[in-house]
Parts: sequence; structure tokens; C-alpha cells
Amino acid sequence: MTARRPMIAGNWKMNAGPDALHVIEEMVEALTPLSDQVDCLICPPATILAGARSLTKGKPVRLGGQDCHHKTSGPHTGCLSADMLRAAGAEAVILGHSERRTDHAESDALVQAKTAAAGEAGLAPIVCVGETLAQRQAGQAEATVAAQITASVPERAPEGLVLAYEPVWAIGTGLTPSLEEIIAMHRAARQALARRCGAAAADATRILYGGSVKPDNAAAILSLPEVDGALVGGASLETKSFLAIVRAHPMLSRFGSA
Ligand code: PEP
Repeated sequence: MTARRPMIAGNWKMNAGPDALHVIEEMVEALTPLSDQVDCLICPPATILAGARSLTKGKPVRLGGQDCHHKTSGPHTGCLSADMLRAAGAEAVILGHSERRTDHAESDALVQAKTAAAGEAGLAPIVCVGETLAQRQAGQAEATVAAQITASVPERAPEGLVLAYEPVWAIGTGLTPSLEEIIAMHRAARQALARRCGAAAADATRILYGGSVKPDNAAAILSLPEVDGALVGGASLETKSFLAIVRAHPMLSRFGSA
């Protein structure tokens, strides 16, 4: 099995106040000493990517976008291409987040096209999948996630592909699956990825857990061998909580808790 480098990614969503760049500056300083063991990624709104890049230049902390269009240019008002995000400083992009799938009716096929476009632009795609509460209660969680992976990930996995298992019912709710459920879902996700892209690509792909990761549950979730890191929403907005989550990774136990 490949030793996969852990990743902790912060999804700021549509949140960036007047002090947002100051927060990024603070995070970059705090995360730099931790980044030799763990990839730390901040995904702020695209409007501040270029400003943020001037703060991460020469530092190991990376930046990502939250979505991109599947085409490279054209009449798509309000959209951004993967190339544009890369030019603004992104090295990765979150795709198929459940909020995009719900608010913008994004289908698996569209997510797959975006994933391919991101890969072609040299961005690492972070493809989000996850079941709704109704699907879990119907015993369909693993089948739902497997089907999303099959239809959202190109057969030829893009360089740097990352998957994020994010149960929809856990996002922003304070609820999380049990550790046993997380293990089962991550195993099922990797098996589905192996069927789709082959065993080697599946083995190399990091699978993050996302959904109400907080400083108090991060250590337990991040210590699971099936979990290669976390995609963090609300708790990534403040330096203190994001830092505490990164420090909770077992590779960083020597840094102690926040
Ligand atoms: C997310 O939006 O990807 C997410 C995991 O949010 P939260 O951590 O707030 O549940």
C-alpha cells in the first residue's frame, strides 16, 4: 500500500470578511511548521485567491478554489475556468460539493467533466461524494457513494486526484457518522474507485472525511488508517480551530494540542 501524505483542507465557502487576508496570513504563519508532515490547503472565495497567493508565496501552505467551469473559456457569465483559478494561485479545486450539487443542480456527469478540466489545467481535483440521511436510513449509503464515484470521476484518474467523503447530513450540522461508519464508507469508496480507475490509482488517491470535523473530534477521525485527512468547513474559518484540527493529526502529535 502507498503511504499517502495526509491533507487537511479548509473550505471557506462564501465567507470572507474585510479581515480575510489577515486571517490567511495568520494561518500561513501557524501552519508552515506543520506542513512538512501534512498538506495544508485553504480554499477561500476566488476573489481573494490572488491576494492570498502573495501571502503563501514561498511557503508550504497551498490554496484551492471551490468550483470551476468544465470549459476553458466562453459565454459563461459569472463562471471561472480551471486555468483562471490556477493563474490566481490555486493548486487544487473542490468539485461536486453537496452545496453545488443541491444549489446548482450539478449532476455526476457535470462533476466528471469539471474533474477532467481541472486535471488538464494542472489543478488537483477534490471530488466530493456523500449520501443523504434518507439514503443512509434506507441502507443505501455505500451504494450511493459508489455510484457517485463511478459517475463523477473520469476513468483515467487525473494527477493528484483527491476524494472527499462528506455525508450530506453531517455538513454544517454538528452530526458525524460513528467511527465504524466512517471506516466502512472509506473502504467502500476506495473499492469503488479501484473498480473505476484501477487499483494503482485508487491506492494513490487520498480520501478525506468531511462533515462537522471540529477540534474535539478531529483526533479520533484522523487516526483512522482509512482516513487520509479532512475537508473542513465551518471550523476552517478561524485560525485557532483550523490549527487545532491540523495539530490533531497523529503525525503531528509532537506539536501537542492547541
Ligand atoms: C464542508 O462544507 O465541506 C464541510 C465539511 O462543512 P462543515 O465542516 O462545516 O460541516
